Amino acid sequence: MSATIIDGRAAAERLRHRVAGRTAELRANGLVPGLAVVLVGEDPASKIYVASKTKQAEEAGIRHFDHRLAATATTAELLQLVRELNANPDVHGILVQLPLPNGVDSAAVLAAIDPAKDVDGFHAVNAGKLALGEEATVPCTPLGCLILIREVLPDMRGKRAVVIGRSNIVGKPMAQLLLQNDCTVTIAHSRTRDLPALCAEAEILVAAIGRPKAIQGEWVRPGAVVVDVGINRIDDGSGKSKVVGDVDFASAVTRAGAITPVPGGVGPMTIACLLMNTVNAAIRSRLGASVE
Ligand code: NDP
Repeated sequence: MSATIIDGRAAAERLRHRVAGRTAELRANGLVPGLAVVLVGEDPASKIYVASKTKQAEEAGIRHFDHRLAATATTAELLQLVRELNANPDVHGILVQLPLPNGVDSAAVLAAIDPAKDVDGFHAVNAGKLALGEEATVPCTPLGCLILIREVLPDMRGKRAVVIGRSNIVGKPMAQLLLQNDCTVTIAHSRTRDLPALCAEAEILVAAIGRPKAIQGEWVRPGAVVVDVGINRIDDGSGKSKVVGDVDFASAVTRAGAITPVPGGVGPMTIACLLMNTVNAAIRSRLGASVE
């Protein structure tokens, strides 16, 4: 038996197409969704992520406002920029690319973002609303995972779900989303005992730990939906580097019912969800304005 490979690139393409369609409608009604992208310093990976985000925003018809700051930028300077962006009516989403340089108080900067413009969904208000089951902006990566799971499992009610990883940006919001979809959810982490036994129960298994190929195929429950969030760069044996997930794909694909590959699984969905969150923030800003 070999699993269905969940094609994240194709799903992201479909989502971007829907977002572009919605943006065109909004533009026709005089509302141009706007995304402010803040990049501090010269981190090469951050530069690549930001370049993809702005390119894809542009292709979807979203206006982007780019703010590049030197690595020497202070917390005070960033807080001032965030305040300006909060006050700018043309900006519907604010993205501060992480990690920020050492010395900058990242938590203070993220907390300063207007929750209505927090398209990454990292603000405590959005995390709290998600936990309360209220309408919230949901972090892009777990949102992308949920969309991929739905492709193969439209009805998740009562399913046993195991999320490995408890970060605020992936593991915890992922667990909340699965709970909202009526799964029975367990969150595992580095102190969890007998992870293989836990995985063996999972009809939905989400791995977000940042450990190359740590989740073994024989741990996977036969027929499970496996979502691999991990992005790990390793030596391919010939001195070149390659990207692998947190799941040992070669062994897991023989047991899972469906599985996301790395690359080409969750990764492409993350930016597509960022675009969706931005357009939704723009729509909400208009709805808010029309109520007054
Ligand atoms: P963090 O490092 O913030 O969190 C990792 C989590 O995994 C922690 O909760 C940690 O436990 C847990 N963990 C670590 N090792 C083990 C282990 N051996 N067994 C069980 N649990 C373990 O990572 P992120 O959540 O930010 O990211 C996770 C992965 O997802 C990374 O590879 C990252 O690159 C990738 N990622 C991919 C994205 C995408 O777009 N596809 C976006 C964001 C992240 P503890 O809390 O006890 O320390």
